[in-house]
Amino acid sequence: MARIGIAGAGVLGRLLAWRLAGEGHAVSVFDPADGPQPPVPGAVVAPNARPHAAGFTAAGMLSPLAELDGAEPAVARLGWRSLPLWQRIGQQLADGGAPGLVRVDGSLLLAHGSDRGNAQRTLSRLSGVAEAPAPQPLDAAALRALEPALAGNLLAWLLPGEGQVLPRETLQALADQSPGVRWHWNTLVEALVPGRLRLAGGSEHAVDLAIDTRGLGARPELPLRGVRGEVIWLHAPGVRLHRPVRLLHPRHRVYLVPRPGERVVVGASEIESEDRSPVSLRSAVELMSAAHSVLPELAEARIEHLETNLRPARADHLPGIEHRPGLLRINGLFRHGWMIAPAVVDDALAAAGLAGEGQSPP
Ligand SMILES: Cc1cc2nc3c(=O)[nH]c(=O)nc-3n(C[C@H](O)[C@H](O)[C@H](O)COP(=O)(O)OP(=O)(O)OC[C@H]3O[C@@H](n4cnc5c(N)ncnc54)[C@H](O)[C@@H]3O)c2cc1C
Repeated sequence: MARIGIAGAGVLGRLLAWRLAGEGHAVSVFDPADGPQPPVPGAVVAPNARPHAAGFTAAGMLSPLAELDGAEPAVARLGWRSLPLWQRIGQQLADGGAPGLVRVDGSLLLAHGSDRGNAQRTLSRLSGVAEAPAPQPLDAAALRALEPALAGNLLAWLLPGEGQVLPRETLQALADQSPGVRWHWNTLVEALVPGRLRLAGGSEHAVDLAIDTRGLGARPELPLRGVRGEVIWLHAPGVRLHRPVRLLHPRHRVYLVPRPGERVVVGASEIESEDRSPVSLRSAVELMSAAHSVLPELAEARIEHLETNLRPARADHLPGIEHRPGLLRINGLFRHGWMIAPAVVDDALAAAGLAGEGQSPP
């Protein structure tokens, strides 16, 4: 049994805590948030307030094939390895009382007829993962059978095997189902050195392994930048959407993700800025008009709230794992944190000599 201290209770921090506590280690987690619960949707965040985890804002797309449009094949392979791991994690969390957090029903790639050239270019890029099935073209009848509410005149492809996770609920469940973990909320970690976490206020926490999963909070120790992303939450009673869909769009990678309670999340902009201020009119108009063009029934949906957060990115847009005795740093999950986290956690623990038995239950 090792004493492990984790700085950051976002996607990586909670997944690590859940897994390592389940394998019998003594785990402590430190985070400036005031508890494990998701932030209140739509709450106005004061400019000087501590930002919450990017993981809460994410759409939760597990879409390694579609991401090949803009990501390296190495990222897609991590995503493809993570899909069965997510299914196991989802089953274990369901057994623990939180059902339905992970769904793998494929996703759809859509384009308007006028964007056929762009769609062909994108499709030609979606072959970077040898073990993944190829996109399947759908004619109008096949599309209607899968998603009757989508506009009938769209070009469409099914990406089999892709899925989604419910971010807010999964972050909560990982904390709830890690009873052995000592959670230290309202606690900022100022620095990590081998075997120690330095907490704000001057105290130190001694461990066998210190793990840094602070996302953008790991600066300046790690060279990272934040990439702004905006999402819109819609309440859409009666609108049937069964799986995530992505529209090839000249300016955004627009996706629509079904959520419980007859909600649809529309995302996401990707803007080179660390501005966390509210969603711009331009992003809102572009994302919502693109969403309405593929799912016309959204016309009467109600806009519940709009949300902005920053994705933690390294210069190469690849995840970074650094290990030396007593210290493990994992960061730079950029726009794929949910999609690749289980495989990244496996690789990081293997590097630290804590490979264990995979994503085992607590
Ligand atoms: C709009 C948007 C949409 C997205 N959509 C998707 C998607 O569909 N699919 C996907 O796979 N990914 C998506 N992502 C990306 C994903 O959210 C991130 O890659 C992921 O959250 C990174 O995980 P993390 O654990 O490294 O960081 P985070 O989730 O940001 O967690 C970092 C944690 O560290 C804590 N922390 C910060 N500073 C300190 C400190 N000094 N001491 C202690 N703790 C600290 C924070 O409070 C936070 O809890 C999206 C992101 C955004 C913004």
